[in-house]
Amino acid sequence: MQMQNSMIDFLRLAQKETIFVGKNRLLVVEDEPKVAQALMEGLTSEGYLVVLAATGEDAFFRANSEHFDLILLDLMLPGRSGLEILSTLRKNGKKTPVLILTARDTLDDRIQGLDTGADDYLVKPFAFPELLARIRALLRRGTAKDTVEVKRTLADLELDIVTRIVSRGGKSLELTLKEFDLLEYLLRYQGQLVSREMLARDVWKETHRITSLDNVIDVHIARLRKKVDQDFSNKLIHTVRGVGFMAKDEPS
Ligand code: CA
Repeated sequence: MQMQNSMIDFLRLAQKETIFVGKNRLLVVEDEPKVAQALMEGLTSEGYLVVLAATGEDAFFRANSEHFDLILLDLMLPGRSGLEILSTLRKNGKKTPVLILTARDTLDDRIQGLDTGADDYLVKPFAFPELLARIRALLRRGTAKDTVEVKRTLADLELDIVTRIVSRGGKSLELTLKEFDLLEYLLRYQGQLVSREMLARDVWKETHRITSLDNVIDVHIARLRKKVDQDFSNKLIHTVRGVGFMAKDEPS
């Protein structure tokens, strides 16, 4: 039992670490071991980080509590059905793109799936390259959607992506272009850990790890924090010691 737990911890850690190198994280919800195994192997070899859930409960728990870029969802599952999971996630405001993968191929099921909030639908058996093409399309759309959203808010902090106006408690903040991008990124992932590696890749657009950039990032964070948090008792930009940063409305 002890050993099993440490193995699970290890796998969780391994998954967390992998986020930092910029892979897309997919949740595969599939109860048939053979199909699950094939998807896991195929998608991993395409460079995706794959997390597997074999029951409705596990799928729901993970989808609700962890960050995924896309969910591949089987409909017929032990425990909660795929549609049930999907409808609850959407009710909870989770916008993660969902691609339904199922053997049920009647028109009604497709319409029901899409009505419930699925983004796409693929009927088993399917050709793997088609699945890959649809995954890529949804991931692209996911990124596009993010930029269409106009405002990001956290407590009394408001950031308008179009006008690039940032205010806290109704008072506007003067940010440099880089500080704005940095704050926008932190707010996009608010409540989640943002590592220096993520910032280097997505805000500074560096494809290779450059250690000296860590210092640059820290300097920008310090300046940003001064502008955002200095005059307020509740701090919004937090340091997660040794790993990175997190935007959240909580005391340090
Ligand atoms: Ca199934």
